[in-house]
Amino acid sequence: MPLYRCPKCGRTAELPEGKYYCKVCGPSATMRQVTNKSAVLEEKVKHAVDVVWARDRIIRAVADIQHEVGISDRDVEKILSELSRLWAIVKKEAT
Ligand SMILES: [Zn+2]
Repeated sequence: MPLYRCPKCGRTAELPEGKYYCKVCGPSATMRQVTNKSAVLEEKVKHAVDVVWARDRIIRAVADIQHEVGISDRDVEKILSELSRLWAIVKKEAT
């Protein structure tokens, strides 16, 4: 399916051939088809970078919480395993 990009907010969506408005920006923004393969790749890389960045922030946040609140290593284990579960879901959505 072709990839479409909103010229206003940059949101992308894979959609069947057609004319679409951006779901976020409304009828003032017509989604433009991204035909260049490198542009598609760029979007995917950008998304992956965002996801990795979010994961790093989460890991740092957990470390901060542990430091400030003094939660036990076992609780940290629990939080991290829950996060990896969520991380797996996010990763699946990014591909
Ligand atoms: Zn938009």
